[in-house]
Amino acid sequence: MSLMTDRVDRPQNAWEMALSQLDNVAALLRLDPGLHAILRSPKRELTVHFPVQMDDGSLRIFTGHRVQHNTGLGPTKGGLRYSADVTLDEVRALAMWMTWKCAIAGLPYGGAKGGVAVDPRPLSLRELEGITRRYATEVSVLIGPERDIPAPDMGTNPQVMAWLMDTISMHHGYTVTGVVTGKPLAVGGSQGRVEATGRGVMLTAGMACRKLGRSLEGARVAVQGFGNVGAVTARLLARAGARVVAVSDITGGLYNEQGLDLALVEGYKLDHRDLSGCPGGDAITNEELLTLPVDLLIPAAMEKQITEANAPRIRARLIVEGANGPVTPEADHILHEQGVRVVPDVLANAGGVIVSYFEWVQDIQAFFWDESEVNQRLERIMSRAFETVWDATEKYQTNMRIGAYAVGVSRVAEATSIRGIYP
Ligand code: GLU
Repeated sequence: MSLMTDRVDRPQNAWEMALSQLDNVAALLRLDPGLHAILRSPKRELTVHFPVQMDDGSLRIFTGHRVQHNTGLGPTKGGLRYSADVTLDEVRALAMWMTWKCAIAGLPYGGAKGGVAVDPRPLSLRELEGITRRYATEVSVLIGPERDIPAPDMGTNPQVMAWLMDTISMHHGYTVTGVVTGKPLAVGGSQGRVEATGRGVMLTAGMACRKLGRSLEGARVAVQGFGNVGAVTARLLARAGARVVAVSDITGGLYNEQGLDLALVEGYKLDHRDLSGCPGGDAITNEELLTLPVDLLIPAAMEKQITEANAPRIRARLIVEGANGPVTPEADHILHEQGVRVVPDVLANAGGVIVSYFEWVQDIQAFFWDESEVNQRLERIMSRAFETVWDATEKYQTNMRIGAYAVGVSRVAEATSIRGIYP
């Protein structure tokens, strides 16, 4: 079938992208127009502006958002992002993607996302803590273990989650570990959570290879992004026998046809904070990384990296999305026409939220699992989700994004219509 991609005169922002992906699937599923309208609308949005005292004594005003897209399947779940150009529309898109991601994985959650417009890199720990505690206070009316559970995303990490948990706990007067996931192990985190997203990307890449009659063993891989998702994915893919030939971060990348020494690259990043000047390969730009002659491409940086401008030059036959929204709808269309398989974000990077769900369950039960139990359960859920999406893709003779959306959207739509409209 045609992918019915909406054409617009200017590049879509992430929210327009998310809406047009939903609209495509609504048409395919012949979704009731009322249900479609409900799914298009974020349920709750909160924007806050708040002051934080900086180390030099000055006051700075920050803007943050928390969007809960849909609560049809349960409390909402989704990360908190710190990035200089976060907008409400971007957070809306990310919240909607969480709704589909949770539904596809069969988790009892709706989708949410939060963001603060700040570049965390130049900040001191004290400033970061101040921003986090004040943001947590501002959005505390929305969050809680039974309402909305944040987690790490771009620019945030387990320490930020610990401050969030502590702030909410101080307000309550007792410790509420289940209010946030992705926490350090010492304060109610789960074994396996740090690696979970990358592990899920590696597992889905393996499953996709098997379906396509290929193997991860010896496959040439390029990974865009060397944060938590990209670095762990690269490491686990190499451990699975793939040859990781290129990686990059915001400053650019590194290419070695023979395969990179990832221990060296990870060590360099730890010491220097970024990859610029890293030895062991030729320096390349992010743009060059995307069009390298590889078997498998993992965009694990951010949205809108593969667009109609560079999609025709992509040489990988398989793309597995570690980031959220790295391929635009126009690029999806071009890649589909060129026979490039794209395993979509809402399936491929679901490992993070799946282990977040395990963390929440462990916190609520105050009963903790070992790492092998976490990893086994993760693999079981990922492979069930992969098979369900694969079957839907075959059934509708479409690409895997639309196949995945068909699964997620119909689950949320079914829950919405069974629950009925209040009052
Ligand atoms: N930020 C991650 C994502 O986009 C994880 C969300 C979570 O664990 O709740 O899926």
